[in-house]
Amino acid sequence: MKKPTLKDVLGSVSSFLLFFLTVGFIVSCCMMLFVRILADTMDLTITPDNVGAAAKVTFWNVVLITFLFKFADYIRRKIMVERPTKIITEATEKIMSGDFSVRIKPMESSGMEGFNQIAMAINQMAEELSSVETLRTDFIANVSHEMKTPLAVMQNYGTLLQAPDLSDEKRMEYAKGVTDGSRRMADMMTNILKLNRLENQQIYPQVSEFDLGEQLCECLLQYENVWEKANIEIETDIAEDVKVKADAELLGHVWNNLFSNAFKFTPSGGTVTVSLTATDHHAIVKVTDTGCGMTPEVGAHIFEKFYQGDTSHSVQGNGLGLALVKRVIDIMQGEIGVESAVGKGSTFTVRIRRA
Ligand code: ADP
Repeated sequence: MKKPTLKDVLGSVSSFLLFFLTVGFIVSCCMMLFVRILADTMDLTITPDNVGAAAKVTFWNVVLITFLFKFADYIRRKIMVERPTKIITEATEKIMSGDFSVRIKPMESSGMEGFNQIAMAINQMAEELSSVETLRTDFIANVSHEMKTPLAVMQNYGTLLQAPDLSDEKRMEYAKGVTDGSRRMADMMTNILKLNRLENQQIYPQVSEFDLGEQLCECLLQYENVWEKANIEIETDIAEDVKVKADAELLGHVWNNLFSNAFKFTPSGGTVTVSLTATDHHAIVKVTDTGCGMTPEVGAHIFEKFYQGDTSHSVQGNGLGLALVKRVIDIMQGEIGVESAVGKGSTFTVRIRRA
């Protein structure tokens, strides 16, 4: 906060003096008028000496009283206004310089409710900013980490491909390694871009009415090769004629992610069940698998960006799928939850509004 200069101090003293003298003069004039009316009505004789003495006493009395009041007000302002303003200004200056750890303690004295509300809002803002900052740095670290693995794999296969006298079989195998690695990176980039656009609200939901059961069946059928190859049984219990008004493409991402996870984490011989039920206002989709399941600790983090449970390190993925799913469901003001038990399987339940 700027320190007052001598000119500022002299300025405020002269404005105070002007204020006291004006108030003293006005009140003295009022008193004189009062005394004059009193003297006229009571038939008293007042000499100019009497008036002069009374005016002087009244004037100085009023000056003294206003001075005392002004002084008391000055102290009150120092404690009740300037001190909290200084605390709040210092905190915001720290936030502006990038220190998001700053928090303002609530001020105890009465009459501070307004300042405490501002302080609470600033504390909340600092908290949000610090979590955004952590997310940003984590995000960069995660993207770099996730890109390193497929890049290293591709480099490796690239080097192997340079060897002379490679058999056709080996060349095909190494070339496939390069293609798989690049596909993995492209998938990750697509997911990052989608998530980014969803988070920055650059995607405006294109709402249309469609049959949810049909959409679920279409999405599921895309995995026919996968479940046949992995020998996974499919069970469906899909209510007919459940119409929803939503963005079909965004909702398609949800089902694709849930289905691909269900197949990814279910071993051969397992079962994946998809069910759809509906009430007047909501549609409820459940995707159940008999796969590896997850612990409650893992379950608590699966919707975070780049989070992968221990089990997924052996299978492909980048931990963005469920973050994307959650974002879409949030945009649709729906709900998503998971129930899971290690070794038994998981059930993801999605509840969306029909209109
Ligand atoms: P990814 O599958 O690429 O790792 P996701 O965001 O789709 O990323 O999932 C995050 C984590 O949630 C996974 O790494 C896995 O640990 C857990 N997970 C998701 N779906 C299932 C499932 N059906 N069964 C067991 N674990 C799952």
